[in-house]
Amino acid sequence: MTLLPAVSAFLSSPKQLLIDGEWVDAKDGRTFATINPSTEQDLVQVAYASSVDVDRAVSAARAAFEPWSRTTPRERSHLLWRIGDLVDAHADEFAQLEALDNGKRVEAARDGDIAIAAELFRYFAGWATKMEGTSIPMSVPGREFHAYTRREPVGVVAGIVPWNFPLLMACFKIVPAITAGNTVILKPAEQTPLTALRLGQLLLEAGVPAGVVNVLPGFGDTGAALVEHHGVDKVAFTGSTEVGKKIAAAAAGNLKKVSLELGGKAPNIIFNDADIEAAIAGAVLGGYFNEGQCCVNGSRLYVQRGVFDEVVAGVAAAAAAIKVGDGFDPTSQMGPLVSQEQHEKVLGYIRGAVRDGAVLTAGSADRVGERGFFVQPTLITGVHEEMAVQTDEIFGPVVTAIPFDTEDEVVAAANNTVYGLAAGVWSTNIGTAHRVGARLRAGTVWLNTWHADDVTLPRGGFKQSGWGRELGSFGLDDYTELKTVIAELR
Ligand code: NAD
Repeated sequence: MTLLPAVSAFLSSPKQLLIDGEWVDAKDGRTFATINPSTEQDLVQVAYASSVDVDRAVSAARAAFEPWSRTTPRERSHLLWRIGDLVDAHADEFAQLEALDNGKRVEAARDGDIAIAAELFRYFAGWATKMEGTSIPMSVPGREFHAYTRREPVGVVAGIVPWNFPLLMACFKIVPAITAGNTVILKPAEQTPLTALRLGQLLLEAGVPAGVVNVLPGFGDTGAALVEHHGVDKVAFTGSTEVGKKIAAAAAGNLKKVSLELGGKAPNIIFNDADIEAAIAGAVLGGYFNEGQCCVNGSRLYVQRGVFDEVVAGVAAAAAAIKVGDGFDPTSQMGPLVSQEQHEKVLGYIRGAVRDGAVLTAGSADRVGERGFFVQPTLITGVHEEMAVQTDEIFGPVVTAIPFDTEDEVVAAANNTVYGLAAGVWSTNIGTAHRVGARLRAGTVWLNTWHADDVTLPRGGFKQSGWGRELGSFGLDDYTELKTVIAELR
C-alpha cells in the first residue's frame, strides 16, 4: 500500500503544538521523534511541550472558556456534526497515519478507530441540545419557590491519553468535553501523537474557535504539569493504574475533578455448555484484538474442565495461524507492538512464565523477524494464580488458560484481581450467564460475545480500574457541574 499524498505532506514538516488556534514550537525548542513500530524508523520530529507551554495553553483555554460555554447548544451540535463528517472524509488519511504511528493495520484503523471517532462526534452532537435540568418541588410553609437544576461545564479540561487507540482516545476526551461547553488541552501519548495533531488541523478548519481545543504532545512530565496546574479544573485520564494513582494524588492541589480509565486483566469464562465454536472465536478476538493492547483484553481464560482441551486446542490453532506483519501489508492479520519498551515488556512476561514452569501452548518467547516490534500471539497453560503472567496487566497478545470445576470457584478466581474493567461469560444457559455476569466485579460484562461495543454505552472500571464512566448518556456527567437554583416567588 502506498502513502497517500496528504499523509506524505503531513509528514514532510516537523509537527508543532496547537495553542490558542496557532501552530507553535515548544518555547524551549525541544522536539522528539515518533517512530514507525513496523520498521523502527523515525517518522517525523514533534514539538515536546514543557510546563511553560502548559501555562500558555491553560491561559488560552481559560480565556476561551467563557465565550465557548455561552455558545448555544445548537451551535455546538452543528459544529460537532460537521467535524464528524470531516473525520469521515479524511478516514483513509487518518488510518494510514495511525498505522504508521501505532503499528496497527490500516484497515483495522479505518474500520474501527476512525469510523468510531467520527460517530462519536455525531452521537454527542445529539446530546448538546439535550443536557436538561429538572424542576424540583420545595415544601416551606407559607412561602413559594421555584427550584431547578442546570448542567454547567466544569471549565478547563486536561485530557491525557495512551497510545493503543490514539485518535479514538483523544476523541473520548475532546468530544464530551466540548459538547458540554468546556475547553480542552489534550496531551496525546508520546508514542503516537500524529492523529491528534491532524485532528487539531481539522478542528480549526471546521471552525472550532481558538483556545477551545489545544494539543500538547509530550511525555509524562507534560502530563504531570497539566495535572498540577491550578488553572485546570478537571483531568480526564486514560492510561495505566500506576500513573492513575499519581494523577489522583497530584490533582489534590486545587481539588480538580478527576476521571480515570485505567488498566484491566479481564477474565473470560467458558462453561461446558457454551457454544464452543463461538467461545473459541470470542477468546481469540478478546485475547488478540489490537495486538492485545487493549484495556478490556480477555487475558485470563477460565475454561470448565469438560471442554478445556478442546478450547485450548482451538485457541492455540487460531493463534498460530495469525499472520503477523507490517500494518501496511494487506495480508497481515496483526501488526507489531507499539514500541521497543512494550516489546521487551511483553516478551519478558512470556519468558518469565516459562521460567516459572508454565507451558507455551501457542506463540513464542522470541521476537518475530529482525526488525519491528512483532510478537506471535501466545497462549500459556500450566499457569498458577500467583504467577506474574496471571496477575499483571501485560497489554500484549498473551492469554493464559486455567481449568475450573464449579461456578463458585471460577467467580472467586475471576474476581481475585485488583482490576475490574471487563469480564465475559460463555454459556447457553441464560440463568448461568446472567447470574455469573452479575457476580463478576467489572464495569463491562459480555455474555456470549466479546468487544461488542457502541458509543451509546457507558464504560469504566470497578476497583483499581478507575473512577467515573465515559460515553453513553452518563458520559457527560463527569464534564458538567450540577447547579441548583432556588428562586423565591414574592
Ligand atoms: P501510561 O499510564 O504510561 O501513559 C498514559 C498517558 O499518561 C501518556 O500520555 C503519558 O505520557 C501520560 N503520563 C505518564 N506519566 C504521567 C504523569 N505522571 N502525570 C500525567 N500524565 C502522565 O499508559 P500507556 O502505557 O500509554 O497505556 C497503557 C495503559 O492504558 C494500560 O494500563 C491500559 O489498560 C490503559 N488503558 C485503559 C483504557 C480504559 O478505557 N480503561 C483504555 C486504553 C488504555
